[in-house]
Amino acid sequence: MDFEVLTKNLEKKGYKVSCFATKEEAAAYLNKEIDGMTVSSGGSMTVKELGLADMLRTHNDFKWHWEGDDRMDVLATDVYLSSVNGIAETGEIVNIDGMGNRLAGTLFGHKKLYFIVGKNKIAKDLDGAIRRARNIAAPKNAMRFNVKTPCVASGGEKCFDCKSPERICKALLVFWERPNGIKDTEVVLIDEDLGY
Ligand code: SF4
Repeated sequence: MDFEVLTKNLEKKGYKVSCFATKEEAAAYLNKEIDGMTVSSGGSMTVKELGLADMLRTHNDFKWHWEGDDRMDVLATDVYLSSVNGIAETGEIVNIDGMGNRLAGTLFGHKKLYFIVGKNKIAKDLDGAIRRARNIAAPKNAMRFNVKTPCVASGGEKCFDCKSPERICKALLVFWERPNGIKDTEVVLIDEDLGY
């Protein structure tokens, strides 16, 4: 995939951008860049698929929400790794959260924030990115948690904007541009399908 348009638009919005053909190349790059730091991540299938936790913890202090690390410890690290639920070719970044920990992690003001993005997350525009986040990423996540919601009952067909007590979609965050408080934010684009 040609990331040229997306890269230009992200750069205009204040992000550093790096592009890789494979997840292995991206993981090797991140493993080299992040050294001797405290690092954390929310629940990200992309981070898992890159195998970053095992790599980084050999030479960093890595904390992971999924491994039960304390919420405040996860927020207090130098570096935060997040995937996205949708990204618009026009440069907007969209994430949906149930707990709030992942959205908080991307807003909190870590010294360095990485968004790690497989090509399957890219939509034409912001509406498309939100649609993707709501109708593809969220139902797949709901299926992973096996919650009692109509999206799971339908086999992940789409979002039904449910009122279920087990609804996992509680907040939606759009980065129109890079927020002023998180100056060093890098989007790592990977030419493979990764995560949801
Ligand atoms: S709002 Fe409900 S139906 Fe829609 S994706 Fe979230 S959990 Fe599924």
